Amino acid sequence: RRVNRFSTAAATEELIIPPVQISHTQHLINGQFVDAASGKTFPTYDPRTGEVIAHVAEGDAEDINRAVAAARKAFDEGPWPKMSAYERSRILLRFADLVEKHSEELAALETWNNGKPYEQALHAEIPMLARLFHYYAGWADKIHGLTVPADGKYHIQTLHEPIGVAGQIIPWNFPLLMFAWKVGPALACGNTIVLKTAEQTPLTALYVAKLFQEAGLPPGVLNVVSGDGPTAGAPLASHMDVDKVAFTGSTDTGKIILELAARSNLKPVTLELGGKSPFIICEDADIDHAVELAHFALFFNQGQCCCAGSRTFVHERVYDEFIEKAKARAVKRVVGDPFKKGVEQGPQIDNEQFEKVLRYIRAGIDSDATLECGGGRLGSKGYFIEPTVFSNVKDDMLIAKDEIFGPVQSILKFKDLDEVVRRANATRYGLAAGVFTRNIDTANYFTRALRAGTVWVNCFDVFDAAIPFGGYKMSGIGREKGIYSLNNYLQVKAVVTPLKNPAWL
Ligand code: NAD
Repeated sequence: RRVNRFSTAAATEELIIPPVQISHTQHLINGQFVDAASGKTFPTYDPRTGEVIAHVAEGDAEDINRAVAAARKAFDEGPWPKMSAYERSRILLRFADLVEKHSEELAALETWNNGKPYEQALHAEIPMLARLFHYYAGWADKIHGLTVPADGKYHIQTLHEPIGVAGQIIPWNFPLLMFAWKVGPALACGNTIVLKTAEQTPLTALYVAKLFQEAGLPPGVLNVVSGDGPTAGAPLASHMDVDKVAFTGSTDTGKIILELAARSNLKPVTLELGGKSPFIICEDADIDHAVELAHFALFFNQGQCCCAGSRTFVHERVYDEFIEKAKARAVKRVVGDPFKKGVEQGPQIDNEQFEKVLRYIRAGIDSDATLECGGGRLGSKGYFIEPTVFSNVKDDMLIAKDEIFGPVQSILKFKDLDEVVRRANATRYGLAAGVFTRNIDTANYFTRALRAGTVWVNCFDVFDAAIPFGGYKMSGIGREKGIYSLNNYLQVKAVVTPLKNPAWL
C-alpha cells in the first residue's frame, strides 16, 4: 500500500554548522556550575545518529533541595524581589541582547541536541526567545496594584507581589522557547526559580543560564537542574519551599504534577499539556493555500508540537482534490540532516518517541485508514520518519484520538458546519484549532463554537510574546505569555488603612 518513498535529494549537501562547544553540563545552583550531589551523570544524544554528545549532571532530590534553598534565600533575603523593577528590567534586556549576539551558537546547540532544522532554530526559535525577554522586560516596571473605592472610611489598595520560588518543569520539543515562556514572566514579576530541563535536551538551558549570569542576574535567582522526571521533577513539584509550579508536557504527567502539588503544600499549578487540534478546511477555501498551511500545521518541528493541527477535517466537495495535493506536498517534504540547507524536517527526538510514532502508523494501517504516503523509517541511523499522510480517517480510530507527536497527518471528511464543530470538539483536549474559509460568517461561527485556547483563522502557529497560549479541557490549566502569564507569578495583597486615625492612637 506504500505509494511513495522519500529521498533527501532536495537538501543541499552544504552543512551549516557554526562552531559550538558544549561548555556547560553541570547544574547551575546559587550562581555556580556544580556536579550532582550524587556525582552521577547521564548521557545526552544527537538524534541524527543516536550517538552520545555529552554527559550531564544527573539531578535528584538532593540537588533540588540545594537549588530550592538557593532560590529561597535569593527571594527571602533579596536582592531580586527587593531590587528596583527598573533594574530587573535592565537585566532581562541585557540577557535578550546576549541571546541575539549568541544566536548562531544557541541555534546550533539546539539542533544538535534536539534535531530541529538549524535554519528554523536560527530564524524562528532564537529570535522568539529574545523577543520574549524583551517583552517581559517591558512588563517588569509596569506591574502595579489598584486603589479600591470600597468604603469611604478606609484607604484600600492592592499590592501585586511576586509569589516566591517558582518550580518550572519543561519538555524537549522547544527547549529554549519553553525556557522563555516560563522564566520570562517569573523573573519580570520578581520571583526566583528552580527550572528542571527535559532529560532529552539539557544543554541549551544551561548555555542561556550562563548568559543570564553575564547579564548580571544575582546568584540563586535562576537555578537550573538537569535530570529525570520522577527523580528530579517530582521532588521539585512536591517541595514544601516551592510556592508555585509551572509545567509543560504530557497530560498524564500533568496529572501527576497536580497531585504532587496538592499533596504537599497546595502550591498553585499552571499546566500546558497535550492536544489533538482540528484544522478545518471549508469548501470555499483556497485549496492550494489550505494544503500548504495544513501541512505546516502538522509537520512543523517534526510533528512534535502540542498544538499540531493533527486532525485535518476537509469538506467533502474539496476532499479528493485536497488529498491529492496534501500527498504531493508531503512527498516533496525535505527530510534529512537538520544542519543541511533547505531541510524542512529532521529526526524525532529519541528512540522512544520514534518507536511510539511508528506504532501509531501501524495502528493507522491496521484500522483501515488509507496510507497515502510514507509510513516508515528513513535511513538506517538516527530517528528519521517519512512524512506520512492517512486519508479516510474516522473519528474513533486511535490515530484520530491520541496525540501522536510525529509527522503523521490524518485527514477526515465532513459534510456540514454543525457536524464538524461537534466532531472537532469531541476530544478530551482543547489546545488549539484552525479554520480555513473565505466566509466571515463561517469564521465567526467557528471562533465561538470551537472549544480551544487558540483559534487560528486562515493561518496556523502564529505566535507572539503578547499572544496568550493555553488549553481548554485536558490541554491544561492557565495561560502562558502575554499579560495573562503575569497572574501566574503574582499574589494580590489587600492593604486596608483607616483614613482617620482610630481613637486609641
Ligand atoms: P513528559 O510529560 O513525561 O515530560 C515532560 C517533562 O516532565 C520532562 O521535563 C520530564 O522530565 C518531566 N516529568 C516526567 N515525569 C515526571 C514526574 N513524575 N514528575 C515530575 N516531572 C516529570 O513527556 P515525554 O515522556 O517526554 O513525552 C511523552 C508525550 O508527551 C509525547 O509523546 C507527547 O505526546 C507529549 N508531550 C507534550 C509536550 C507539550 O508541549 N505539551 C511536550 C513534550 C511531550
